[in-house]
Amino acid sequence: MTFTEIAAGVHVLRQPHFDVNATVVVGGEAVVVVDTLSTVGQAEELLAATRRVSPLPLVLVNTHHHFDHTFGNATLAAASPGTAIWAHEAVVTELREHPERLRREAYDECLAAHPELAEEVLAVTVVPPDRLVHSLTVLDIGGRTVTLRHLGRGHTEGDLVARVDDVDVVVAGDLVEVGAPPCFDDAYPLDWPETLAALIADTGPGTVFVPGHGAVTDAGFVRAQHAELTELAWLIRDGHLDGAPMEAVAARATFGPTQSLIAVRRGYAELAGLS
Ligand SMILES: [Zn+2]
Repeated sequence: MTFTEIAAGVHVLRQPHFDVNATVVVGGEAVVVVDTLSTVGQAEELLAATRRVSPLPLVLVNTHHHFDHTFGNATLAAASPGTAIWAHEAVVTELREHPERLRREAYDECLAAHPELAEEVLAVTVVPPDRLVHSLTVLDIGGRTVTLRHLGRGHTEGDLVARVDDVDVVVAGDLVEVGAPPCFDDAYPLDWPETLAALIADTGPGTVFVPGHGAVTDAGFVRAQHAELTELAWLIRDGHLDGAPMEAVAARATFGPTQSLIAVRRGYAELAGLS
């Protein structure tokens, strides 16, 4: 893993498994950790890296419910008493009501991609967030603020973005993916473009974006991904209107055959009123 300071007091840990990012924001009174990785071992690495830059109490944030962003909650929350975990209410529901299913899905995903993690994710204690974000919450961590926003559905029902206001850094979670196509397993492909448009409207040309996966990026990349997602949403709407086979619509999308087909299937289901 690498642990890089991308702006004053903002560090990104890039974990090689799934190329996932965790972001550490050091304030004057507390340290915000956005996303907590997949396993106890990975969370311990993140904690050790965080402690190298600050001894202050932790505040945790989950950008969405997926295991590679939340399964380190237990380890990091145990590091200092009374640690708050912030997330959108949909994340709380998922983690509270379906821990077994989430562990099983994580196990299957790890078995396919990183089998050495499979047993570890199955053994994780799933700890739901205990602080809800409906649409906007501002965390004052002493001398700087971190603004948490839910801008709409996209990669999941409960995506959250975290902006470090003084240095114009946005932690976008999996609403933005670098180096791999966006993942549509739990996504809302018809809503995603508008959610990303809201994020773009809320940021500037110089904003630095930390994606959920892959290298830190810029506004130009986010705008390009927004254009691709917009095109996909229109392909889905047109295809559904024409009664086109899902495979034919997916073949015209730019996100690879597997993810494009998942996106079209979810979009068609939504247009048919099934989701
Ligand atoms: Zn995700």
